[in-house]
Amino acid sequence: MPFSSLGLSDPLLRAIADAGYSIPSPIQAQAIPAVLEGNDVLAAAQTGTGKTAGFTLPILHRLSQKTYSKNRPIRALILTPTRELAAQIGESVNKYGTHLHPRLRSEVVFGGVKINPQISRLKGGVDILVATPGRLLDLINQHVVKLNYVETLILDEADRMLDMGFIRDIRKIIGFLPKKRQNLLFSATFSADIRKLTTGLLVNPIKIEVAARNTAAELVDQVAYLVDKTDKSKLLCHLIKEHNWQQVLVFTTTKHGANRLTEKLNKVNINAAAIHGNKSQSARTKALAGFKANNLRVLVATDVAARGIDINLLPHVINFELPRVPEDYVHRIGRTGRAGEEGEAISLVSHDEYKTLRLVEKLIGKEIKREQIPGFETSKIAPPIPPKQPRQPRRNKNTNQQKKANSSPRRKKY
Ligand code: AMP
Repeated sequence: MPFSSLGLSDPLLRAIADAGYSIPSPIQAQAIPAVLEGNDVLAAAQTGTGKTAGFTLPILHRLSQKTYSKNRPIRALILTPTRELAAQIGESVNKYGTHLHPRLRSEVVFGGVKINPQISRLKGGVDILVATPGRLLDLINQHVVKLNYVETLILDEADRMLDMGFIRDIRKIIGFLPKKRQNLLFSATFSADIRKLTTGLLVNPIKIEVAARNTAAELVDQVAYLVDKTDKSKLLCHLIKEHNWQQVLVFTTTKHGANRLTEKLNKVNINAAAIHGNKSQSARTKALAGFKANNLRVLVATDVAARGIDINLLPHVINFELPRVPEDYVHRIGRTGRAGEEGEAISLVSHDEYKTLRLVEKLIGKEIKREQIPGFETSKIAPPIPPKQPRQPRRNKNTNQQKKANSSPRRKKY
């Protein structure tokens, strides 16, 4: 199905062609017509599915049908959990709206930076506001933002917003909106809290599901390298140099861990920077921009900082440590293999993380192949999955010998 059959205007189709997209992703094929018709939408979609264009394009279409020359009121409000995600949505709005005449105005506001420049940018009026909930409430309380003309509310990554404790802020913000409006809610998972939120919010929503809940991206090749904890950074340097990787996203569980690893990489001339909650917004933006522009070889990130990072065609994601929460593994590996591209997710797993590895496997419903890298073998245990055996002829299937082979160490409790 071509984009032209979805009902979008020519200037938007031109912007889609500029972006190099040839066919709509499944979520776009379903969400765009639904939003254009003015429906409420409830979409189960993770990052990497093309969901941003799925709501941005039809919103731009609808708003551009009627423009205000002066005193532009906010007509579309996009709430999103993190600064990075807000900035990226803002970029998408600009990119897809580039050929519209007259142009729609949009602004992005988030916390952690000075509020005054944001206040002055909002003074001229904007059609579309992308915001994180806390900063938006500050702006409402300072009477800088009024929401009484909002026609469409978009909650992006709603599950993340709830995880980050934004539920009360969101409810307060909803209280400032006109009763009659269109609501779109995007969430990767559907917890009881999300369901509670959607019940009062959405009216006869069109339900869209493009990926099963908590399913790891199928295109991502996943492997666990078993290694001693003390050898992890040496192994990482070895892998980067050996394969000549030029753009690697590495996850650590702690901010200190991210800093320490970044120092070690830089010491061996692997250009790396860390992004985490203790870094200033400008340092984070600089690191992300450098990484996107291929000037920075390794970006070391904690889970919260990495949430929503959108980098095209990211080939390698490394879990330097497995996340504490298995669901974060799915979010991490979602950074690679995006929009149909193949990717590779490598986890460096030490003995103390085997239990977590099992939990991750339980969540994604499949085994992650274990390997050891020569020179970095762990002495702690034998590998839980033995090297592949040649296939036994079928008739041997139930012999004792085969039964023995099947009771491989992978069944061992660890
Ligand atoms: P998102 O899920 O919105 O974060 O988008 C994931 C990535 O897919 C972004 O880098 C988009 O630029 C890209 N993308 C979105 N729609 C398409 C499409 N129809 N064809 C190819 N790439 C796309």
